[in-house]
Amino acid sequence: MTGLWLALALAAGAPSAVTIASVRGEQRVPVSIGADGAPMLQARALLAALGGTFKQQDAWLDVFVARQQLRFLLATPYVVFDGRAQPLVSGAIVQRDTAYLPLQLVTDVLPRLFAERYRYDVEAARLMDAGWQLVKGSGEAAPIEAPPKARRGGAAPAGGTLRHQHVVTVDAGHGGVDPGNPGVFFPAGMKEKDVTLQMSLLLRDELRSRGIAVRMTRTRDTLIALGDRGAFCTEECDLFVSLHVNSLPRRRGSSDVRGFETFFLAEAKTEDAERVAKMENEAVRFEPETEATAEQQGLDFILKDLAANEYLRESARLAELIQSQLGNVNPGGDRGVKQAGFMVLTTARRPAVLVEMGYSTNPADARLLTSKGSQQRMAAAIADAVVGYLADYERKTGDDS
Ligand SMILES: [Zn+2]
Repeated sequence: MTGLWLALALAAGAPSAVTIASVRGEQRVPVSIGADGAPMLQARALLAALGGTFKQQDAWLDVFVARQQLRFLLATPYVVFDGRAQPLVSGAIVQRDTAYLPLQLVTDVLPRLFAERYRYDVEAARLMDAGWQLVKGSGEAAPIEAPPKARRGGAAPAGGTLRHQHVVTVDAGHGGVDPGNPGVFFPAGMKEKDVTLQMSLLLRDELRSRGIAVRMTRTRDTLIALGDRGAFCTEECDLFVSLHVNSLPRRRGSSDVRGFETFFLAEAKTEDAERVAKMENEAVRFEPETEATAEQQGLDFILKDLAANEYLRESARLAELIQSQLGNVNPGGDRGVKQAGFMVLTTARRPAVLVEMGYSTNPADARLLTSKGSQQRMAAAIADAVVGYLADYERKTGDDS
């Protein structure tokens, strides 16, 4: 009942319209009062003024604004952002085929979640939209690097051009006291952690030259805990790509096995997938012990789970694109898209994949992975796949923000 009282109180003080002010000009959006007394804004009018879009899917109303997704479970007083449910005075509703969003989205939710971009003036009933700007990362180790002006006439991205600024987290596997696999056929002294770092730096440059901003989990030979890597990809991040090199224990015929494969997070489906996951999760033993973080409870947890499922489909799509692009430049052979329980992927709050770019235990693959030309081609291929994925995603969400 508290919700209803609050709603009534809000309705009493609600403005008759709000003004959205941005570089696109000023637009007034009338406030309506719902059956339960809560002040609402017609979703179509509001998102047009905000330069965003919305989409109704089953019981969900998805709002895309400021290149972020906010999910409203219809007729429930919650908004889900970044996998977390936040309580509202009243929720989104659909009445006679018209979708309405709570006024609170404008007065409170947007200014709170994206404080760098939105400010709400209660007196004037006005939302100021400062437009898109990159938010600097808090840690010195992982700044979001603004891309240089996209190269005109440079590498044409496969799958179309991007209309919006995107941020991708690139994760160089292993590092510091965790060498990864020993790199049997790599040049002397080189280990998996060195190749993943070289490839990640190349991928960063390739992505930036395609106009994509990049956040790195590491740019030096340092250890980043597996559980912390995914946290680099939260609000201001579209994708998480982790780079690794595969290897097999020494036994008869093991050096004949070669090829590249891309994993997305799920229960391991095959023995081989389980082996790779075990191997990559091993890195945990290098980390100092910490208290396990408390699991989210109740609704929050279920909603997080739903979001994770959605990311699974997206991750699988990205994995397919990476495999198909790598197939053009890596003669080692396409070992396919696989699923496995990688710890590094479980903490990512966005579509996330892990690429095993080849085997250090195969001489030909080891050459591919350590020579400049083929490294460059592989980095470009992965970057093309990312652009293809993001272009698809822009088309699907019809994001015009
Ligand atoms: Zn690895």
